[in-house]
Amino acid sequence: MVDRNGPRHVPGAVTRVVVCGAGVAGSVLAGALAGRSDVELSVIERAADAGQLDAGTALNVGPNGMQALATLSPALAASVRAAAFDWTRWQVSLSDGTPLLDFPLSDIAGCAGIRIRWASLYQVLREPIEPFIRYGTTITGVQGIAEATGDGIAGPLSIDIEGPQGARRIDGVDLLVAAEGRYSPLREQLCGPLPVEHFGIAISRLLVRDTSGGLIDDYAQWFNGPHRLLAYRVPPDHVYIVSTFPLAPGEPIEPAMKMAEAIAARHRPAGRPMAPACTWLVDAMAAHVDAIHWARMQQGPVCYRGAGGRLLVIGDAADPLVPTLGQGATQALEDGVAAAEFVRAMLDGAAGEGGGPKQCTPLDVPALTARIEAARSARATFAQRLSWEASDTLLAGSDPVRDTLRKGEPAFRRSLQALFSGSHLPSAEGTRPACR
Ligand SMILES: Cc1cc2nc3c(=O)[nH]c(=O)nc-3n(C[C@H](O)[C@H](O)[C@H](O)COP(=O)(O)OP(=O)(O)OC[C@H]3O[C@@H](n4cnc5c(N)ncnc54)[C@H](O)[C@@H]3O)c2cc1C
Repeated sequence: MVDRNGPRHVPGAVTRVVVCGAGVAGSVLAGALAGRSDVELSVIERAADAGQLDAGTALNVGPNGMQALATLSPALAASVRAAAFDWTRWQVSLSDGTPLLDFPLSDIAGCAGIRIRWASLYQVLREPIEPFIRYGTTITGVQGIAEATGDGIAGPLSIDIEGPQGARRIDGVDLLVAAEGRYSPLREQLCGPLPVEHFGIAISRLLVRDTSGGLIDDYAQWFNGPHRLLAYRVPPDHVYIVSTFPLAPGEPIEPAMKMAEAIAARHRPAGRPMAPACTWLVDAMAAHVDAIHWARMQQGPVCYRGAGGRLLVIGDAADPLVPTLGQGATQALEDGVAAAEFVRAMLDGAAGEGGGPKQCTPLDVPALTARIEAARSARATFAQRLSWEASDTLLAGSDPVRDTLRKGEPAFRRSLQALFSGSHLPSAEGTRPACR
């Protein structure tokens, strides 16, 4: 029986976990803990309700994210794939249609990536944890940090929340997880201010109905100088369109830059006809210019834990990176899976053989978060660095032909292979607490 109004109280020793943010990383971790008798789980979600699912754009998730998810839960990975199209190729052309690069992802990865609506991904990942989610709720305060950070001994936290049922406090929180995405208030509050590094690129995103008549399908990019269009088809019958152009770091995106004429001018090749696919993309952006979402590419430093080890940070909150290689949600999946594996391994160790009565010392949560940090930091830093390096083609003054062809060479392909496959999930062994 699930209690919608508070953490479930299970007789005997339990670990009280509060996950803040039912996005990609938070939902994966929460899904692995939901229903365990040794966990009291609460998921705090700012969105008013599941109506958030109607919003948003689309994502391509790299093979590494899908591989990670399948390691944790083959059934969940299959459900995600069922709501997606496979991402199988890496295709780059000039905006007049001249091909530059085209190779199958199977050359460098063990499985296909996916193309999916953001709303669909949230829906599938949240389904197993719906009863635990408190929508329209935020954390208004965290108590116990002084004890946690003062002498290095981290006691449980008390968390103040506010939502539709008013304000209340959750005491004795063993593990608080910040999974609120890129602008995580918890990370900011408990780990310090997040310095943001602008990359010098403006980015727009748009999801439209597919009326392209087959011009757009798998992941493809088109360059006109450093101006790039990227698009792919997603279920049920939509096309996701991304455009980028150089913008000096820190500069605002002026309204004139967002107008249909300016968009078309950036992507129209001089003296040559535009490829039919690009013409359709530019026309689609013109037709939906008011619905386009604009942002500037930026990243911040990696941080996986705080508050004396009682705070675990995962997903965009931990490793905000630029989206050039489609690694935002992908790394969030890797984070969620890694965190789930480590937490479950520690809990299973505490439960005793065969799930018998708990015979171990209380969970050493700070040690747990330290292990997750150790397991994830280098990998996340690598994904950040490669995403940053791969963005060179989008910078002012870049040569899209030279810089794209370089991405077909062995050195870059090896890096991409390390990102898209590779042993990204370190063993969770060693996370078991010392048993008496
Ligand atoms: C328009 C757009 C397009 C993108 N395209 C791609 C792509 O193609 N490929 C890719 O890999 N990545 C893409 N990304 C990035 C990707 O969406 C993120 O990297 C990914 O969603 C991060 O997952 P997460 O779990 O860390 O956070 P999120 O998925 O952002 O989830 C955070 C959750 O926390 C909730 N929340 C936020 N603040 C609070 C709060 N104070 N209290 C409670 N809850 C809160 C939010 O409502 C949300 O449900 C895109 C991002 C955007 C904005």
